[in-house]
Amino acid sequence: MDTSELSSVAGRVLEPGDRGFDEARALWNTRFERSPDLAVRCLTSDDVKATVDYAREHALGLSVKGGGHSYAGNSVSDGGVLIDLSLMKRIAVDTGARTVTVEGGVTGAEMDAATQEHGLATPTATVSSVGVIGAALGGGAGYLSRKYGLMVDNVISAQVVTADGRQIRAAADENPDLFWAIRGGGGNFGVVTSLELRLHEVGPQVLSGQIIYPFDRAGEHLRFFRDFMADAPDEFQCYPFCFRVPPIDMFPEETHGQPVLDFVLYHEDPDAIEFVAPLRELGEPILEVVGASQYVDAQTGFDANLPKGQRYLSKAHDLVGLSDGVIDTMVEYVPKMVGPLSAAYFDPIGGAVGRVDPSATPYAGRGAPFGFHIIAGWMDSAEDESVSGWASEFHTAMGAHATGGVYVNLIADDETDRTPSAYGANYARLVELKQRWDPANLFSSNYNIPPA
Ligand SMILES: Cc1cc2nc3c(=O)[nH]c(=O)nc-3n(C[C@H](O)[C@H](O)[C@H](O)COP(=O)(O)OP(=O)(O)OC[C@H]3O[C@@H](n4cnc5c(N)ncnc54)[C@H](O)[C@@H]3O)c2cc1C
Repeated sequence: MDTSELSSVAGRVLEPGDRGFDEARALWNTRFERSPDLAVRCLTSDDVKATVDYAREHALGLSVKGGGHSYAGNSVSDGGVLIDLSLMKRIAVDTGARTVTVEGGVTGAEMDAATQEHGLATPTATVSSVGVIGAALGGGAGYLSRKYGLMVDNVISAQVVTADGRQIRAAADENPDLFWAIRGGGGNFGVVTSLELRLHEVGPQVLSGQIIYPFDRAGEHLRFFRDFMADAPDEFQCYPFCFRVPPIDMFPEETHGQPVLDFVLYHEDPDAIEFVAPLRELGEPILEVVGASQYVDAQTGFDANLPKGQRYLSKAHDLVGLSDGVIDTMVEYVPKMVGPLSAAYFDPIGGAVGRVDPSATPYAGRGAPFGFHIIAGWMDSAEDESVSGWASEFHTAMGAHATGGVYVNLIADDETDRTPSAYGANYARLVELKQRWDPANLFSSNYNIPPA
């Protein structure tokens, strides 16, 4: 491949077999083993521009990788050119303006570490290796979202390399339609080289922890949780997370392999232990760790459950509510769970997320009080069929209680036809804007919104 036109690139231009190429194309989910023809490990916005121009002028497919956590494997394609942003790690915190600006390779853990030096934070995903911009472009929800909204609700501005190779700023007062589109429309509208986000006073101490109960009374506990959550303040977040106990020493041996219900909780106030007492008194937990902790540690609570480099399949719905039918479906399917890393949970939305007008950004699921998410996880490809069979059956059963919408970032590779339903009434405007900003659909390796 003649790459002389990329000689100005400050980063590295790699072909299959070159050192660093495999790292550039590696994804969190090993179900996707893809090999582009060329990987450009960009260091600057100019590198990104040069690569976008190269792909467009040679009519090559283009994919863009940030943190590499796409549940659909969208960020690396077979063939074509890969823009790998993972080395773009600049973070600038402005304590006066209370903003943080991050480049395309920054993870949640890296941003949190920088902002927490000043007692500040902004909502991020709950697994700390997820890319900040990758999550924000689809919505971005975490422990802080009930209080401070989604990541898209905290975006102030973005630097974007567009399909025609321009490097421009998008904000409320500059390219406002592009600014609207990128706050939920994923990577469809350009490569976002950096993003400016609003910060809030958080931590450094918060309350966090997990209360893990045997699954035999899960129905009763989940009904209690439903009522508890209905009156909970925005400062509180809790995910009822169901999984099978791994065979590790921290769990009693007789529980290994058993399904459990884990209340993974967070409160902004480190002294809110009394508030969470009712959740601690539901029975005899298998394991309980709740107390004041550093915010940065709270942000890593899920990391061990979902390690990089295994096989995963994501299935999700937005739910009408936590009806008895929803809870009964959870109780029926969790004990049948296949895959040692599999999990299923409810995601309370509400709070500040629900108070934003659904047309303010492309993210359309603001009216749903809960999300439902299955993360099927396993190691051995021989189990592909049995694991995905379980997940699909569970997902279909839960569909009876769903709004029809779904959080776009959770859509799996085998159901990308659901993309329009993720955007609901906002989809038509996205299609129109795609036609304006990327009429040739150069940015198509994503939850694609084809141009009009
Ligand atoms: C373990 C795990 C935990 C998660 N937890 C949460 C959670 O708590 N809350 C939540 O909201 N979501 C969560 N997600 C979903 C997550 O938000 C999405 O998978 C997100 O897109 C990942 O971003 P990434 O940069 O890591 O992934 P990538 O695979 O690199 O990118 C994902 C998509 O975004 C595009 N993209 C990435 N960066 C850019 C950029 N700078 N410019 C243009 N396009 C770009 C890619 O092309 C791709 O289409 C989780 C996902 C995983 C795997």
